[in-house]
Formats: sequence, C-alpha cells, structure tokens
Amino acid sequence: MPYNEIMKALKEEFTAKWNDKQPSPQGGLEDHEQLSVLGSGAFGTVRLCRHKQSNDVVAVKYLIKKDIIKKKQVRHVINEKQVLRSIYHPGVVNLVFSRKDLDLLYLAMPFVNGGELYSYHKKLVKFNETQGKFYISQAFLALDYLHNMDLIYRDLKPENILIDANGYIKLTDFGFTKKVEGRTMSLCGTPEYLAPEIIQSVPYGESVDWWSFGILTYELINGISPFHLHAKDPMVMFETICAGEYKIPHDFSPQLQDLIRGLLQVDVTKRLGHMKNGSRAIKEHVWFQDIDWHCMLNQTIDPPMIPNVKDPLDCSHFAKSQQMTITRSRNDQFVKQFEDF
Ligand code: AMP
Repeated sequence: MPYNEIMKALKEEFTAKWNDKQPSPQGGLEDHEQLSVLGSGAFGTVRLCRHKQSNDVVAVKYLIKKDIIKKKQVRHVINEKQVLRSIYHPGVVNLVFSRKDLDLLYLAMPFVNGGELYSYHKKLVKFNETQGKFYISQAFLALDYLHNMDLIYRDLKPENILIDANGYIKLTDFGFTKKVEGRTMSLCGTPEYLAPEIIQSVPYGESVDWWSFGILTYELINGISPFHLHAKDPMVMFETICAGEYKIPHDFSPQLQDLIRGLLQVDVTKRLGHMKNGSRAIKEHVWFQDIDWHCMLNQTIDPPMIPNVKDPLDCSHFAKSQQMTITRSRNDQFVKQFEDF
C-alpha cells in the first residue's frame, strides 16, 4: 500500500479514537503483580507489572495526583492519556489500559524491553553514520506519523526512544505532545533540544520537532549535541540556539552536513520539513537515499544491534531506579480535577 494511503487509514483510526473520550475505570492494579521499577518520570515511576491470570506483562506509569496538581500539569497528563489511547504505529508506544484510584493514575503500555537508546549511545559514545541513520530513519517515521495525526511531539531526545526486543525503536513519553491544527505558543521541552521559536515565544508548529530531529541526528553521530557546550548556563545556551551558532563536525559526510544545515535553520521558513507535506523533503534528502522507507516501516531491515533479551520479564536493560513512596488517602480529594482522565 502506498505511504499516503497508509497514513490516511491511520488518520481515520486515530480520529475515531480521539473523539471517543472514555474516562479510565476506577481502581488500582490489584489484578497485577508489581515487579521492577523501570524508570522514573516527573510525577512518579514506570514499573513492570504482570497480570496475575494471563501472565501478560505491561509497563505501567504511576502518576501521583497530588504532585500533578502541585506542578499544575493536570491538562498535560489528561492529554498524555488521550494521545496514548489514540495513537497506533510501529514506532510509538500506545495505551494498553488506564485506571485511577484515590491517589494515583495508571497508564499501562507495552513493555519495550531493550531499554533506552540513550544507554546504548552512552556506552558506544557515538554511532557511525550507518548505525545512526537506522535510528534516525525510524525516528523520522514516528514523527511523520504523529504530524500526520496533527500532533506535535515536542520532546524528542535519546532518553525518550526505547529499543524493542527486535532492535527497532519506539517513541515514549507523550506528556508534552499537543494536538494542534495550526500553531501553538507554550514553552516546553528539554533545553538542549528546544527550537529557537519556542525560546523566542513566537507561535510555532511541527517544525519544532524537525529542529529537535536535527539535534538528535547531530548528537547520535557526533556523540555530543551542538549546544551542549553551554549546558551549564541555559541563558547562554538559549542565546546561542537563537543565533544558530553551532559547528558541524568535519568528519560528517557532505550529505549529512547538508541535512544538519537544512534542519538546524533558525529561520523556520528555510528549515527542511517546514512546508505543508514538507516532511517529504527530509525523506528524499540525499543522506537518506539508500533507505528503503517501505522496508523501514515494515521493519524488514536488519537493525545495527539486537538487544539480548532473555525472557519477557528481563529488565536488565534498565538501570535500577528508586521506588516511590505514596501516602494513601481515605477519600478522593481530586475527583473533579481528574474526571476526564
Ligand atoms: P517517562 O516518564 O515516560 O519519561 O518514563 C520514564 C522512564 O521509564 C523512561 O525513560 C523509560 O526508561 C521507562 N519506560 C517508559 N515507558 C516504558 C515502556 N513502555 N517500556 C519500558 N520502559 C519504559
């Protein structure tokens, strides 16, 4: 099936799910055995859980209601659930089920057992262009899918890219994802990956993701991101980002140098991927000329490495994280705030 036809079918499915806003069932995870902690996010932890009867495993994000309210993130969290339950693509995680009880919200996703791309990258220091291109092409397909659903992802970075047991990527953490038909203005993301227009508080669209995509490409192949030098002083870093002051490594191939220059354009109108259907300009860029996009989407290309996953419960690819402590309440103080979750 041609790519456009696939996207059209996915959009219909997405829209139907997006409009069907079912609140989560009440209750905790009594029917699940809670296993290792896989990681931690802003409002709680992500744990591996096993259904007691079926033995099915899921990664469950535990979100503490009190903390969400304290940090004024209620809309972001409700939005994250809505995005997760509506998306469906090989390159993104999605929702298996959600629940809520007096103190917590639960988002259950498929367990992506190979760990974070970040950990592999840190071990290797950097990928060569062939290895990097595989992950970058996969990230392209995931972002392009989200944009086709009118979603801006806004948090692309190696920490949010998980590797599955077959060596393919899955994007996770949709806390900052926003459904926008047009432009938005809010400030969010990770400083080193922020596009100039977000820093400058001007209305922006999906081009911010193509900027972060440029940073990701640079970082995976160079080992260090272009604005990392100023990481200790965010104000200086923001000035440097807005001025577009970065150096392209000499050992990047001329094709890769050209791609980076096209993506890391401060002027949005000159940025690769900016025009409507502009993602084609990235897909057809000369650096990607040896990529068979159809095989990439169908996951029939050999990945640069396949994680050693012993069994479905193997958590060895995740660093040990701390468990959270929850003080249990007798009544639900936050029914109103989370009625849409
Ligand atoms: P998040 O709060 O979404 O950033 O998740 C925190 C961490 O939990 C991530 O960096 C991953 O290490 C881990 N994690 C999140 N989702 C999954 C998943 N579906 N499968 C395995 N690990 C996950």
